[in-house]
Amino acid sequence: MESCTFHPDHVAIEHCETCHRPLCDLCLWYADDGRRLCATHARELEKSGVEVHSPETYDEALQPVEINDPTLPSPPDRAPYRGNSTDLYAVLAVVMGATSLASCMGFAYCLPLISGILGLVAILNAKHALDPQRTRTMGAISVGIGLLALIPIILFTGYFFMMTLFIIFSAASGNLGP
Ligand SMILES: [Zn+2]
Ligand SMILES: [Zn+2]
Repeated sequence: MESCTFHPDHVAIEHCETCHRPLCDLCLWYADDGRRLCATHARELEKSGVEVHSPETYDEALQPVEINDPTLPSPPDRAPYRGNSTDLYAVLAVVMGATSLASCMGFAYCLPLISGILGLVAILNAKHALDPQRTRTMGAISVGIGLLALIPIILFTGYFFMMTLFIIFSAASGNLGP
């Protein structure tokens, strides 16, 4: 990749048509007749009466590309992960396992469950409470919330179980190939 004459860390996008030096976004001038020029030759041409346009006047959002721009596609030998499909399944399984573990570790997500358990305790001990009826009602509501929270957890666990089976099956059948 060629870098700009004036900005060693910018990618050159054009060359001056007079001196052929490489130029980046910030250094590329246009003459009225469409010629691409460096600042020096643009100003020179301007003196001879031709209208020229500085980079700032034709592009308000100048964004020179950095030579070491991480968004540029990296060559294949620098790819972050290498492996066959079986390796990939293993990586996928680890990621999914970690994700499900993290969701269970999320304390906020477990709060409804805790409230359900506390509600159950409240119902069981209601006869000792000052107002047993109110305690039973509150306990029942807590248990209901806890059960509601269980539904997505059960669905989630079931989904991951099925996915794990699928991954194991796919990886196994992949290994049987030639
Ligand atoms: Zn030039
Ligand atoms: Zn430049």
